[in-house]
Amino acid sequence: MLFNHLIDLIILKNNSRVEYVMSEKKSEKQLFGTNGVRGIVGTELTPELVLKIGLALGTLRKGRIAVGRDTRTSGETLSYAIKAGLLAQGCDVVDCGVLPTPALQYLVRQHFDAGAMITASHNPPEYNGVKIIEGDGTEMGDEETIKLENLIINHSPSTTTWENIGREEAAHHLIDEYIQAIVNQFPGKPGSGMTVVVDPGSGPACFTTSRILTEMGCRVLTINGVADGTFPGRLPEPSPAGLKDLADLVVSSNAAFGVAHDGDADRAVFINEKGQFVEENQEFAIIARHICHEKKGVIVTPVSTSQIVEIVVTNEGCSIKYTPVGSIYVARTMIALMETGNTVIFGGEGNGGLIFPNHQFCRDGGMTAAMMVSIISQTKRSLSEHIDQLPARELIKEKINIADGNLVIDSLKTAFAKDKLDLTDGIKIYRGQSWALVRASGTEPIMRIVIDAENKDTALSLFKEIQQNLNLKK
Ligand code: MG
Repeated sequence: MLFNHLIDLIILKNNSRVEYVMSEKKSEKQLFGTNGVRGIVGTELTPELVLKIGLALGTLRKGRIAVGRDTRTSGETLSYAIKAGLLAQGCDVVDCGVLPTPALQYLVRQHFDAGAMITASHNPPEYNGVKIIEGDGTEMGDEETIKLENLIINHSPSTTTWENIGREEAAHHLIDEYIQAIVNQFPGKPGSGMTVVVDPGSGPACFTTSRILTEMGCRVLTINGVADGTFPGRLPEPSPAGLKDLADLVVSSNAAFGVAHDGDADRAVFINEKGQFVEENQEFAIIARHICHEKKGVIVTPVSTSQIVEIVVTNEGCSIKYTPVGSIYVARTMIALMETGNTVIFGGEGNGGLIFPNHQFCRDGGMTAAMMVSIISQTKRSLSEHIDQLPARELIKEKINIADGNLVIDSLKTAFAKDKLDLTDGIKIYRGQSWALVRASGTEPIMRIVIDAENKDTALSLFKEIQQNLNLKK
């Protein structure tokens, strides 16, 4: 897939040792991928497995544990399974019902000792999964996840005695706190006079994003706004093809933009006022530039994010810190940098998953939608005008079926030994103002190749060079 954008200067940064350690730990995980456990319900992801996850989590974490779920048809069953495990270990369970992952993360940080979210995020309806949330609202890190996996795989934790079994309560109203927390970030009803179309994709943002934007003063139209785990309108991945109805409604209603979420609403993607899909790295760059314009500091993002973000951030006098791929590495690096006295102003991934540290340290689709209202209101420029002001880049994204990713990385290290290399995650090969990233997928036996170049010729020649080196080794 190719996108045409402009060019600008690039400043390269070195990686820290901390990031290499994170990458190594990442490969030791067996059950949990970059974003929790995922699988097809009934075959890969069974209630028995989720019960074991509950039992193991209840062994590792004590106290009051929040449980939430997205709108999938299997959500209720799996929610009972994880709650049974937690209660049997003596934890008290607070069932927060159907809500976005970032809403549960927000509530955990405010009120609870840990959390478990039943969701398969952007995967199709037959999938489900579990994301574990720590008391600070971030997803569980690699070291703790490996401990949890060991408990699930190697031991069957004994359960507590009858008098110590936990109690369950329902607290579905807590979702209001999350909505209010975002609305409070944007006082003065900045959305007044603005029409916005929201596409929650029948996911849990049906209960949040439209309310957030309405409270900000927007006139909100909604499509796919009825919670439904069969996802009748579109799949949970907010792809350009699936957002055609949203785009049509944006144009016909003269809306400022359309916003769509993935299946658990930690990501947000946009349709501009002309009905065009906004590429997610451009979305990141628009918001990053706005934040950097108001405040100076560090932006944190994985090595896979387009150079477009670094270009706009450095042009605004801010700096960028790269991490391995996975929002958890971004979130934890943001926290670590802040703890060592750095000013961290923004972070996220080039897939619409953006992290606002003045709100919370996790990707938040509802907060991202609200921020876009604020940016358009403050700048008095349309979303397409914001895109036109961005530098252009040429992107190629490909995947190849290769089981042993390490062999591929080693052969590329040799082949490109003369180039500047970055080994934070996979191999990133810099060629002047352009780069190529080759890394193993966290979930499938494939390698992903991303080329981010200053022009089409460089993109194609870099891609060809990598292909030739991979073919030689087959
Ligand atoms: Mg998601």
